[in-house]
Amino acid sequence: MSKDKDKDAQGFSTRAIHFGYDPASHHGALNPPVYLNATYTFESIAQGQQRFSGEAPGYVYARVGNPTQSVLEKRLASLEGGEAAVAVASGIGAITALLWSFLESGDEIVADKTLYGCTFAFMEHGLSRFGIKVHFVDLTETDALAGAVTPQTRFVFFETPTNPNMRVINIREVAKVAHAHGARVIVDNTYGTPYLQRPLECGADFVVHSMTKYLSGHGDLIAGAIIGPADDMVTVRTVGLKDMTGAVLSAFDSFLLLRGIKTLELRMGRHCESALVLARQIESHPQVEKVYYPGLPSHPQYDLACKQMKAFGGMIALELQGGYEAGVRFMDAVQVAQRAVSLGDAETLVQHPASMTHNNYTEEERLAHGISLGLARISVGLENVEDLSADILNALDQSVG
Ligand SMILES: *Cc1c(COP(=O)(O)O)cnc(C)c1O
Repeated sequence: MSKDKDKDAQGFSTRAIHFGYDPASHHGALNPPVYLNATYTFESIAQGQQRFSGEAPGYVYARVGNPTQSVLEKRLASLEGGEAAVAVASGIGAITALLWSFLESGDEIVADKTLYGCTFAFMEHGLSRFGIKVHFVDLTETDALAGAVTPQTRFVFFETPTNPNMRVINIREVAKVAHAHGARVIVDNTYGTPYLQRPLECGADFVVHSMTKYLSGHGDLIAGAIIGPADDMVTVRTVGLKDMTGAVLSAFDSFLLLRGIKTLELRMGRHCESALVLARQIESHPQVEKVYYPGLPSHPQYDLACKQMKAFGGMIALELQGGYEAGVRFMDAVQVAQRAVSLGDAETLVQHPASMTHNNYTEEERLAHGISLGLARISVGLENVEDLSADILNALDQSVG
């Protein structure tokens, strides 16, 4: 334990590569073994009893934990600067396991008005059926939060930057107001990653991730994580994960995540560098009405992004002149970039919310969520930036009717 404590002071990539794993205790194996076990044996019934009651550490059954997953969890906690982590089967599994662990009928949540679609659906259509009220407000305005919290507010939930329009929310300010009212703060740090921003150090209580995205980095798995205080993580594991969602991450996907996270810093550096180059080029293209990228001085929260983030991330949203048709022509014209949802992969991915993720929204719902017909989203990948820029600029030219 004290050995890991010293290691907590090491640099980001050193911890991303080594933290929480000692080859000497695994036959010198450089990489953590993949423990393919559903169940664990006990030396005696006394030992089994102690493990079940939580008096003694050790594994019981893989829905609760697995040694490969444990290495991943230690590493995640270190990278986010939290006490403990629970790794689960999806980003939505992380959000639901955390909220189901603590909410009761009659409780309330304040959430930002811009959320990942399925997070919004869970809150708006799922939690509401169980007597939990969710108030959606614009959290870039701290006054809006103060007006929405009540004595029943248990959590304030938001993403920053938000999906898909890249608004940036002040974590410190929100945490101050939330804590003054006795509510705890959950930040979805999927877009930022712990390399670009650490919400717990800014006063948030919990971080959730879709590890499907940058943490995996290779588009080959679905996973999520929750990071927060150690006693709360015991509750999330034994209630939210074990009993209420069963959203267990497989040992093999834990292994792939450990492998992906080793290069997180390198990958994020490249994603950010290329995205800034592209965002500037896109902004000066005549077919483009607006670019949403926190690294551009034209972004409404540019100053905050400079303070809160190490760099500005790999996601760009843009509004095309010519609405829906222009969006479709842009999407159909890309050749290096791929037409797909998701983000954070080595491949550049482009998405057109009006025809893809949000095509079943009513016009009213779309506009309420800030999704115009000509909005496109780019997850800037790791290809050579010259090739990306030629591809995207050509597709913008082709978007003219
Ligand atoms: C993808 C995503 C999720 C959901 O994660 P899954 O791994 O797909 O379940 C939640 N929040 C954000 C910001 C996301 O991008």
